[in-house]
Amino acid sequence: MGLNKQQLTDLQTLGIRWFDMDEYDLNRKGGAGPTDHKAFNFAEQTTMVPIFNDQVKKSNYSATYSENKDHVLIYENDTLVDKATIPAQPNFYKLKTKEGIPYSKIATLHSKNVLATTVFQKCVRYGNRETSCQFCAIEESLKSGATIAHKKPEQLVEVVKAAIELDGITQMIMTTGTPNLKDRGAKMLLESATAVKAAVDIPLQVQCEPPEDDFWFQALKDVGVDAIGMHLEAVSQRVREAIMPGKASVPMSRYISAYKAAVKVFGRGNVSTYILAGLGDTEEEIISVSTLLIDLGVYPFVVPFTPAAGTPLENHPMPDPEMLKRIFSTLGPILKDKMMTSDSLKAGCAKCGACSSMKSYE
Ligand code: SF4
Repeated sequence: MGLNKQQLTDLQTLGIRWFDMDEYDLNRKGGAGPTDHKAFNFAEQTTMVPIFNDQVKKSNYSATYSENKDHVLIYENDTLVDKATIPAQPNFYKLKTKEGIPYSKIATLHSKNVLATTVFQKCVRYGNRETSCQFCAIEESLKSGATIAHKKPEQLVEVVKAAIELDGITQMIMTTGTPNLKDRGAKMLLESATAVKAAVDIPLQVQCEPPEDDFWFQALKDVGVDAIGMHLEAVSQRVREAIMPGKASVPMSRYISAYKAAVKVFGRGNVSTYILAGLGDTEEEIISVSTLLIDLGVYPFVVPFTPAAGTPLENHPMPDPEMLKRIFSTLGPILKDKMMTSDSLKAGCAKCGACSSMKSYE
């Protein structure tokens, strides 16, 4: 018993039907970028699996608690194929700042050992459907009161210290909505990273759109940032304009020049991008752009698209798992050959690997 990599890809693409699930706030529901998952700890890997979307009802995978509830049993059709545990509520979630803000509104546990925060929970592109990314729910968790709009550097320091001490987190990821069209979030990330890295020694990845100027990369590196993600999400201009009309106004040529500049600063592999397979790019497009990126020293973290409730794409079809398997089977060996495997990275989503089974193909 135990899921093989193909079954893992199936799970992450089709989701799991789970009828006796206990609701609690470890689910990634709402928030920046792709969302609406739940973390499952399998023997080798923690994996984010879609469970909320209506389309998951068609999945041939289902889950139920074991009799004493210490495991979740995973079935493929009627066959028991694996068992998993669900990461426990982290201890730092019980704490509050002296102003009374729960730490869980400042940063959250991702996977089982990653502390993630969205430094600025708004985006200049979000309020207007002419510019917003159709898959994104960044301000929904703000509206629901699950988070606060701007996490101050001193608040992040307080939370990261507690999360290291109480929950043994091993890396931190700071993402941000895009506050303006100049530095595109790099300035806020720099302020936050400066404070965190002065207080604790933890691998840190920051994520933003490519800033207008390259000097931000060295500035971030100088305060101790280990890695940067600049996320394409879609790779063809056709899909970029259809799904993320605002972000598509930053041309691919700027992404490429920013990647080249960032690789010089952070080194090969410690610059990465998130590519959502299933938005409309063909597998040939995803493979050819990813191969080009790997040549540049950029890790293309290809993730199956999960439609998120409350977004314009909530009924968008989930991707074909066979397409993901072909993409991973092509890119995995290339990453290994170029010595840019997930495990060799210092920090970031590609190192965490919970949102995509890609690393099991390396
Ligand atoms: S891959 Fe990134 S978004 Fe997914 S759980 Fe890990 S840190 Fe969070």
